[in-house]
Amino acid sequence: MMDFSGYDVGYDIPALPGMAEAAVQTPCLVLDLDALERNILKMGDAARALGVRHRVHGKMHKSVDVALLQMRLGGACGVCCQKVSEAEAFVRGGIMDVLVSNQVTDLAKIDRLARLVLRGARVIVCVDDLSNVANLSAAALRHGVIVECLVEMDVGAGRCGVRGAAAVVALAQAIDAADGLRFAGVQAYQGAMQHLTLFADRKAAVEVAVIEVRAAVAALAAVGLACDIIGGAGTGSYPLEGASGIYNELQCGSYAFMDADYGRVLDQDGRRFDAGVWENALFVLTSVMSHVRADWAVCDAGLKALAVDSGLPVVAGRGQLIYKAASDEHGEMSDPDGILRINDKLRLVPGHCDPTCNLHDWFVGVRGGVVEVVWPISARGKGY
Ligand code: PLP
Ligand code: MN
Repeated sequence: MMDFSGYDVGYDIPALPGMAEAAVQTPCLVLDLDALERNILKMGDAARALGVRHRVHGKMHKSVDVALLQMRLGGACGVCCQKVSEAEAFVRGGIMDVLVSNQVTDLAKIDRLARLVLRGARVIVCVDDLSNVANLSAAALRHGVIVECLVEMDVGAGRCGVRGAAAVVALAQAIDAADGLRFAGVQAYQGAMQHLTLFADRKAAVEVAVIEVRAAVAALAAVGLACDIIGGAGTGSYPLEGASGIYNELQCGSYAFMDADYGRVLDQDGRRFDAGVWENALFVLTSVMSHVRADWAVCDAGLKALAVDSGLPVVAGRGQLIYKAASDEHGEMSDPDGILRINDKLRLVPGHCDPTCNLHDWFVGVRGGVVEVVWPISARGKGY
């Protein structure tokens, strides 16, 4: 437990353990710990049933405490992150198995990545360019360490990654031949389809990815290169990659907290993700600060408290209230029956969990209306 002596509630931190949720300073992020734990356990069970590892995506929450809970409670084998600075935060927090599921190309960043191994961590990074292999190798040799590399494949998202088995093999052989590097497998995340509403559409996209990955893995085997990690999958698709017989490591992130946008996605039985599949565990706690018009309330959570790239937040459990507009420090909502009063507190489900978490310093974990923990968002703002 963190030592909070000297912390000023309001200035340094939105709440302290033991406080009533009603006394928490807003706007801030609240975690429903019961819902969070249920989501984590459920994903742990799912990965176990599918017979695959789960390397949780830490870019979503950027929190050492949440990642440790996912490992302890959900059996996660380690974390993914997107940035070297996130990897640094996780390793400093004691997480010793970290995949940067992204390219690291800047020479200073590569040096920092290699130095993380000196702290005792297993460090894995994605590669999709030959010149990067030489730079990673030079840094690993400089520090006398081994950096593990995955060849990133473009399996349909059209962003990073090489296409086709021949290109995968060429890069893998270069990694295998480079001093200080270990070829560890392939990264094959199809991100573009995760939020498609219909399960059938996501399934079709994964089927394409699986064919590509299977061909690449076979081509690698033919030249004597085995894949320790065949990684990918997110909250929208993991049952498919998990059952593919070729992927062996899932990378889901959003499932732990959920958000309004994922809530609208449907599972294979046509159920919304927020209707029993995954629970909303992340909320922006906000207070009503103005209600001049009878049917229009203004709360204190706007663009600086929540991300709106995937849609506006939804007011949790209060169907008649609709969040209509966000400006810097204001959130405007229609209150047709005029039920809200000044200083009323509301829980908002943010549209998109990842960028929302990155706007805050703390998670306030509550259970039964009482603050149980306050966790720092360890890598908040760390994008370098
Ligand atoms: N893997 C990678 C490489 C990602 O970039 C992401 C998120 O964008 C994920 C996994 C996790 O996705 P989700 O939050 O949909 O579970
Ligand atoms: Mn996201």
